[in-house]
Amino acid sequence: MNTSVNKTIDAHLYADSAPLVNNVFCQQSEHAIKLRSSNTSERIKTLVKFKRVFQKYTQSLIDAAKKDLNKPETETNISEIFPVIHEINHTVRHLKKWMKKKSVGSTLAMTGTKGSISYEPKGVCLIISPWNYPINLTFCPLISAIAAGNTAMIKPSELTPNLSKVISQIVNECFSSSEVAVFEGEVDIALALLDLPFDHIFFTGSPQVGSSVMSAAAKNLTSVTLELGGKSPTIIDHEVNLKKAVQKITWAKFSNNGQTCIAPDYVLVHESIVDDFLKEVRLQISNVYGECHEDIKNSKDYCRIVSVSHSKRLKELLDDAKSKKTKVICGGLIEEYDRFVPPTVVYGEDSDIFDSRLMKEEIFGPILPVISYNSIEEAIAIVNGYPKPLALYIYSKNKERINKVIQETSSGGICINHSVVQFLHNNLPFGGVNNSGIGSSHGIFGFKAFSHERAVLEDKFSITHWLFPPYKKRVRILVKMLIKYLS
Ligand code: NAD
Repeated sequence: MNTSVNKTIDAHLYADSAPLVNNVFCQQSEHAIKLRSSNTSERIKTLVKFKRVFQKYTQSLIDAAKKDLNKPETETNISEIFPVIHEINHTVRHLKKWMKKKSVGSTLAMTGTKGSISYEPKGVCLIISPWNYPINLTFCPLISAIAAGNTAMIKPSELTPNLSKVISQIVNECFSSSEVAVFEGEVDIALALLDLPFDHIFFTGSPQVGSSVMSAAAKNLTSVTLELGGKSPTIIDHEVNLKKAVQKITWAKFSNNGQTCIAPDYVLVHESIVDDFLKEVRLQISNVYGECHEDIKNSKDYCRIVSVSHSKRLKELLDDAKSKKTKVICGGLIEEYDRFVPPTVVYGEDSDIFDSRLMKEEIFGPILPVISYNSIEEAIAIVNGYPKPLALYIYSKNKERINKVIQETSSGGICINHSVVQFLHNNLPFGGVNNSGIGSSHGIFGFKAFSHERAVLEDKFSITHWLFPPYKKRVRILVKMLIKYLS
């Protein structure tokens, strides 16, 4: 095992990182060729080894998440540790089937040939991950990359340094740098990496940075998977089990302090139940996190915002919303230097709320704007007025209105009568559309993201040579007959 690379990179954190990343890239390029012929059992062996090392570091990861995000142990277990173990187990269980060459039926023109699709590794892959779920969003793509037979260079976020350190330790213990290498550090490392001609880039982060990543990838015509964010709406119909809906929404919105890409960003509530909704949300917040500001601040189950600057940004969003005739229903007292933002619900009594920054930017924090609507058409029009979101939620007992929302909107995924849990379903693709992302991850979709679907065609006894020049009468008649037959 070669750990020297990661150590050297630490020492050169802010210096010129290009020679170091180049060096590892060259090592991985060589190794990637060997991995091309790796079989299912070899890849499974690597995944099982990774799982063993990952499990050994569980407590270190929990401690680091506490330091970086004040994240409760149980929340780390649910949202970070469990998804990684689940992804490994699911991949190990299905990899043989996924890797199998898929035969395809012949077409009339290709009679006498045998066609199939083989899944070949892309090669050397770059994984850039964000700070909000650093364990899960670094290791789940890595599991797919390994399953598909690739090498990987990883750049975790600089904003969760304790977690990045443990991620680096796990990788160093499990892999040589020619297989997988972690590059801790600031954006300059990401930029140095993006200069390299990777075979695939898997980026998770904001749409703004995603766009820069795609531009950099375009220079080398590198394929990308972009797992981005945006404003994920929630629609609450008047025919609904309000208590259950509010329980699920508050859990999804305030876990991890709202720093979840698929957290409900804003809620559209039918005007006939707005008062009941606001009452129920207030009750739910005080039941779960505490009745007053101090109780919530002392709650062991409530995270913190990742940095002072992110807390300041949230304060600015709230101040701006207040100036646009929005009413703070609960919370609102932001202590930015303690990175503490209480669960805050604001009600937009007036359409002015749409001019606020709160409704123009992805909130990515525990502030929940509530807006009323009077018909499902109006709710759909509001959703469609924004770029396509990563997730869309509808809470309703009415099948007709649910179907209308499904048909008349677009989003990465849609979840009916729940929030966020679609992430945990490994048989479903997880990803966005346009502004919220390109491509998808999880299970077979992650495996395919890191694989090239190669067309393999073998000639057995095809008749294509009957159409070769010189184009004598026989060929001309045959071509005409073929076209006539096909029309
Ligand atoms: P970010 O885009 O600021 O950073 C993500 C990663 O990119 C970090 O590792 C960072 O170091 C790196 N980076 C920053 N600037 C860069 C540049 N110019 N070039 C290359 N790399 C650069 O995102 P974030 O603040 O870490 O995460 C929050 C965003 O991520 C939100 O928009 C959220 O919705 C989104 N997100 C999406 C998903 C998903 O699965 N779709 C999951 C989590 C977060």
